[in-house]
Amino acid sequence: MKNKFLPFSKPSISDADIETVCDVMRSGWLTTGKQAALFEKQFCKYTGAAHCVALCSATAGMHLLLSALGIGPGDEVLTPSMTWVSTVNLITLAGATPVFADIDRDTLMVTPETIEKCVTEKTRLIIPVHFAGAPADIGPIRDMAATHGIFLAEDAAHALGTKYKGDKIGAAGTCIFSFHPIKNITTGEGGMFCTDNAGLADSIRRLKFHGLGADAYDRATGGRSPTAEVLEPGFKYNLTDMAAALGISQLNRIDDFNGKRKALAARYRKQLAKLDAVTPLFDPPYDYGHAWHLFVIRLDIDKANMSVDDFIDEMKTRNIGVGRHFKAVHLHKFYRETLRLDPENLKNTEWNSMRICSLPLFPDMEPEDVDRVVNAIKEILTK
Ligand SMILES: *Cc1c(COP(=O)(O)O)cnc(C)c1O
Repeated sequence: MKNKFLPFSKPSISDADIETVCDVMRSGWLTTGKQAALFEKQFCKYTGAAHCVALCSATAGMHLLLSALGIGPGDEVLTPSMTWVSTVNLITLAGATPVFADIDRDTLMVTPETIEKCVTEKTRLIIPVHFAGAPADIGPIRDMAATHGIFLAEDAAHALGTKYKGDKIGAAGTCIFSFHPIKNITTGEGGMFCTDNAGLADSIRRLKFHGLGADAYDRATGGRSPTAEVLEPGFKYNLTDMAAALGISQLNRIDDFNGKRKALAARYRKQLAKLDAVTPLFDPPYDYGHAWHLFVIRLDIDKANMSVDDFIDEMKTRNIGVGRHFKAVHLHKFYRETLRLDPENLKNTEWNSMRICSLPLFPDMEPEDVDRVVNAIKEILTK
């Protein structure tokens, strides 16, 4: 058992999950239909969101949002550089300018203060990230965006089940979730666009399917309404019913998944507290509920006398997978060469980018796997 590869993440797929997808495959209707509609309804119920639109990825949701808001050349979009590259790629492809707010050194999240510093006349949209399963301090961020009249959309890819001051992320505002296989639930690939803005929900629904005036599925005919017309040119970002059925089945298991993640994270924290060359993230200073999407540590590269890449390689030779969430986007080749930012403004982002990695964490992991990971870290640090 000791030598078996321990991945950094693995989806938990039950026989019931598989059966529900098989049922759809036998039903004669594979693409967006009843299952997608039911998944949206259940997702509204779980998060408290007013409107949910199922999509083929979170990236698609971000693309649709930028389109719906008409963001383009001359506009600035504010987001952390400590995020997944997709957000910044889409801002860039839209012809707008990404502006990076620095993060808190110990939660990896933007704060009302770091965002405020970056707001200009040109800021059209703010995209904070709820990082690793904890919520950003979204109350004051929402107030500030409203004061400036700037649209706010929360990247909730890590935040299914996360709570901010008693409310689930998704219950208010506009939030985009991901169902990529490493996320807290999966549909293979998929995403959910949640919003309390009915007009925006209509736009997203239209733009996700060619800009047609009616959704793909028409209840009366059991198919697409043949009379639907293009109201504006749109995309093809709908979620299949096979994927949606898996999503429904997975959503039924989310509280169990997150409970298991929480117990594993607590075990990591307890054991890692004894190692001074490794520091986990800190808890937010406000009331929160954690979804434990990732277990991120910062390596003291001086004490350990190695880079985080070397550390990840050492873990790999011990058959343990380690992730990196994230290498700061502005440090990727294209953005290094095109943006040429002043590193003084992104100190906490760069400091963490050189030190963070994500230890294995997924619901089907055993407590003994945590011990094995911690023992491997100890062995590497004392080498
Ligand atoms: C995974 C992720 C995304 C993108 O999700 P996809 O469904 O893969 O498009 C966006 N932002 C963050 C922070 C993520 O972790």
